[in-house]
Amino acid sequence: MRISIKIKFSIFLAALLLLTVFILSLLVLEGIKKNQQVEVEQYFAQQATTANVYFIQTIMAESNKVPQTFLASKGKEFAGQLELISGQSVVLYDQDGTIVNKDRSIITSDSIKKTLAFALNNKTAYLTDKDSLYYMTPLRTGNEQVGVVQFNYSLSKNLAFYNQIKQLFIYIGTGVFLLSFILAYFYFNSFASGIIRLNETVDRIREGHFATDTLARKDEIGELSEGIRVMSEQIMKTMRDKDQEREKLTLAVHKLSRLDKQQKEFIGNVTHEFKTPLTSIKAYIDLLEMYPDDEKLMETAKINIQSETRRLYEMVEKVLQLAALEKYDFEFSKEKVDVQQAIQLVLSSLKGKLDKFGIRLETDLTEAYVEADKDCMTIVLVNLMDNAIKYNKARGHIFVKNDLKDGQVIIEIADTGIGIPGEVVHKIFEPFYTVDRNRSRENGGAGLGLSLAKKYAETQGGSIALVSTDRAGTVFRISFPAYEPTKTRK
Ligand code: ADP
Repeated sequence: MRISIKIKFSIFLAALLLLTVFILSLLVLEGIKKNQQVEVEQYFAQQATTANVYFIQTIMAESNKVPQTFLASKGKEFAGQLELISGQSVVLYDQDGTIVNKDRSIITSDSIKKTLAFALNNKTAYLTDKDSLYYMTPLRTGNEQVGVVQFNYSLSKNLAFYNQIKQLFIYIGTGVFLLSFILAYFYFNSFASGIIRLNETVDRIREGHFATDTLARKDEIGELSEGIRVMSEQIMKTMRDKDQEREKLTLAVHKLSRLDKQQKEFIGNVTHEFKTPLTSIKAYIDLLEMYPDDEKLMETAKINIQSETRRLYEMVEKVLQLAALEKYDFEFSKEKVDVQQAIQLVLSSLKGKLDKFGIRLETDLTEAYVEADKDCMTIVLVNLMDNAIKYNKARGHIFVKNDLKDGQVIIEIADTGIGIPGEVVHKIFEPFYTVDRNRSRENGGAGLGLSLAKKYAETQGGSIALVSTDRAGTVFRISFPAYEPTKTRK
């Protein structure tokens, strides 16, 4: 059975007070007993003296002054007088222990006989039996004992007083126990309610609800509740941190698996891009071995092997450039570059290609200058313009414009080409990525143009971004830091 802490405390306090009352009552009752005994002894010592004085006086008044014969003749009368003086019932014994004034049968118990034997030996003695006291004192004339006087005294009043006090203590004890229990119960109730609330808080924390309040108390319970609040906040924070760590870990795992996938794709792309021209070259060599005299084959093989070799060479060249840009910090000789002129130069170098595909070119160029390495800038422009031609539709359009904004020269190249599918736009700057491998290959591309252009732009403090792409076409934006004439140059 579970007993509440407030009941336990209350019972303990009430029992403690009850014990105090009990010990107090023992001491008081013992004191009363002692006091009553002393009073009785004093009273009867006085009575004994009176009895002896009166005995001597009576004998002196007699003509026959022999004490031994006096008791036999006048003992009864004397005892009667003594009863009147003392107000107590008196039994008179002669020196032989024989009762002088009353019937012998009143000596009932052995204890009285023993006490009498003691008193006959010239000593005072008394005996208590139930609520009666028998006080026996020698009767003397001078030093000679002639008999014994026994006073019979009722102790009923003393006992009644003693029992009354005892009863009083029982009432007080019961009252103190009940009252202290009730008061203690209410007093401990406030402590217990604090502890109960703390218990409920701990239960809530165990169930995972960490938001807790502090009890508004300025004692140990208040401090404990504050401690629990701080502790639960700490747990909450630790769990939050753990969750965040877990989230980060999950993200890292996702990223790693994505990277792993990308790496596999990349290796697949590289392998394919290098294997295709090599396979083609090998095939022609095998054919030439089989038909060494076929002149037509010889001619076709020469053209194809030449173009595949060129393709391989360009690819290796671009990969090496990319690797070098990735690994080393090159010192580029930056200069003031006329953007309008640079764009015009690139466009005229691509004129043949534009004409070949019947693509119309529109420009909206304004005077602008950037501070960059001229060759780098040309590579960037060539790659983007070349893509705008390669991935355009037959008799499509290309629109090129430039602008100056926030210290940056912006060049936008818009085409009316095939567009890039939304789900792969984030991949187009990866090396060897092509949306349609055959189309890229047909146009001599291997998925290296954009990645290389991006790297070159970045070496010049610039950037390339895909602005928009859909079935109507694609818009790329190049930005380079504008030339500032006031800037101090190294
Ligand atoms: P590539 O050298 O094969 O042209 P790039 O790195 O230049 O490769 O471009 C990567 C891919 O992005 C291309 O395979 C092509 O599918 C797509 N792409 C680039 N520019 C355009 C564009 N202007 N219009 C449509 N697709 C484009």
